[in-house]
Amino acid sequence: MSSCSGIKPHDDSNTSLSYLGTEKTQWRDTINKSYARADKKDTIMLFGGTTILQDKLMMAAVRSLGENYVALPNPDFESFRKGKAFGNRGQCNPTYFTVGNLVKYLQNLQKETGMSSEEIVQKYLFVTAGGCGPCRFGMYITEYRKSLKDAGFEGFRIMSFQHNEGIFQAENDEESINFSPTFFITMIKAAIIGDIINLLTYKIRPYEVEKGSTDKAVERCYEILANAFMQKKNLVLAMWRCRKVLEKVTLDRLQPKAKVMVMGEFWAAMTEGDGNYNLHRFLESEGAECIPQPVMNRLMLSIWEAEYAAKKVEDLEDKEMKNIDFSNIKTKVMIKLAKAAVKTYFTLYAKAAGLHDYEIPNIEELSKLSRVYYPLDAEGGEGHLEVAHLLESVKHNLSHLIISVKPFGCMPSSAVSDGIQSLVTSHYPQANFLSIETSGEGAANFYSRVQMALFKAKQLAKEEFEALEIPEHIPEKLNNYLYQPKSEKAGTAAQLIDSLKS
Ligand code: SF4
Repeated sequence: MSSCSGIKPHDDSNTSLSYLGTEKTQWRDTINKSYARADKKDTIMLFGGTTILQDKLMMAAVRSLGENYVALPNPDFESFRKGKAFGNRGQCNPTYFTVGNLVKYLQNLQKETGMSSEEIVQKYLFVTAGGCGPCRFGMYITEYRKSLKDAGFEGFRIMSFQHNEGIFQAENDEESINFSPTFFITMIKAAIIGDIINLLTYKIRPYEVEKGSTDKAVERCYEILANAFMQKKNLVLAMWRCRKVLEKVTLDRLQPKAKVMVMGEFWAAMTEGDGNYNLHRFLESEGAECIPQPVMNRLMLSIWEAEYAAKKVEDLEDKEMKNIDFSNIKTKVMIKLAKAAVKTYFTLYAKAAGLHDYEIPNIEELSKLSRVYYPLDAEGGEGHLEVAHLLESVKHNLSHLIISVKPFGCMPSSAVSDGIQSLVTSHYPQANFLSIETSGEGAANFYSRVQMALFKAKQLAKEEFEALEIPEHIPEKLNNYLYQPKSEKAGTAAQLIDSLKS
């Protein structure tokens, strides 16, 4: 069992409890290394958990390094049910969806191929991000092991890298997997590219004239990008080719649609499926445009958290006149390099694909915005980001509605959504804010609450648009997604008309 504190776990694995006359054995998380393993060349590495496009792009990207990776399908309600059946009680919703998704995949694999559990355990392993929490995130890997054992896959390998230490630390089975800097840089490039195409998709799809044309164009973009990764071609050029594909989608952008910022707990806000009742697609079908949360935001928050922790160590050195901690200096240098690399890649790829009005969030600035409401020392979940997103949206008029998705059983998101955000909205009563829980059950209630909040947002979008003077001649450029003018209006249609006034 990995330990964030460095303390070795208790290893009396056979502690027994007497309960109502029956003997129960306490389950303990141990790594059994005595199972036979397939050769590295025959080992298949499973992973997943970002958006549909990003999972597919990451698969192509790491396969280009010669690794045998397979992305799991998007988690669905069946995954959730398996997670509940095999997992511990009282876990948060993303735990059930993601853990159950792996169990479901392995059970289906067994049915389809006739492989025995032992063969699957030898041949497959799962790669995921791990961390200390302090929420249930710190328990994910243990949950995977426990559920897999109960589902009949005892000894199945779960490999992790620390989400907030990235390339600096890895717990792994080095015979089977190599978490090298090249591996992480390749994964990050795929994640950034996926974010950019996703952001563009959410800008384009609500305004498409022919239904389904955006999805078709995005599928073509995926082919171009996967091919570029596999053939080790220039990715900037590949993004430029995607721009040409996306430009061909015919748009009618002068529809005053409600703009909805979807934020909240990282996985619940980002996933595109049953994990949040297909929230993004539902909003679009109800006539809204979404602002999604890119995976990059979580990565930048993790980098900021590492930087914040290094700064605290530095302050301690000053106060107590301790010897200079050179490992801390090295950490700070690595953080600066990581930030610079992420920003450079993002800017290059975004420019090539034609995403002009989006910048990687400055987490330090956002922390200044939110620290009045949120103590920055409190880690867990999205930290201060949820508060910052709400404040940013209200102060800069970024959307007509802000939806915070909080998974059932999530401690950090519930504290922020139900506690701190109530104070924020009492100070900013103009905010149209909806905090909504995803439980994996009760979709009807979820949708009706979203529809109620959306009704007001649609009215706001319409009023904003109708207050503008619509010129007789509408320039063609307005219907090209590459035209992204700066404006104080929230809605896309209002922004476009507003940009013509000068
Ligand atoms: S932030 Fe919430 S939902 Fe996410 S892992 Fe932690 S407890 Fe679970």
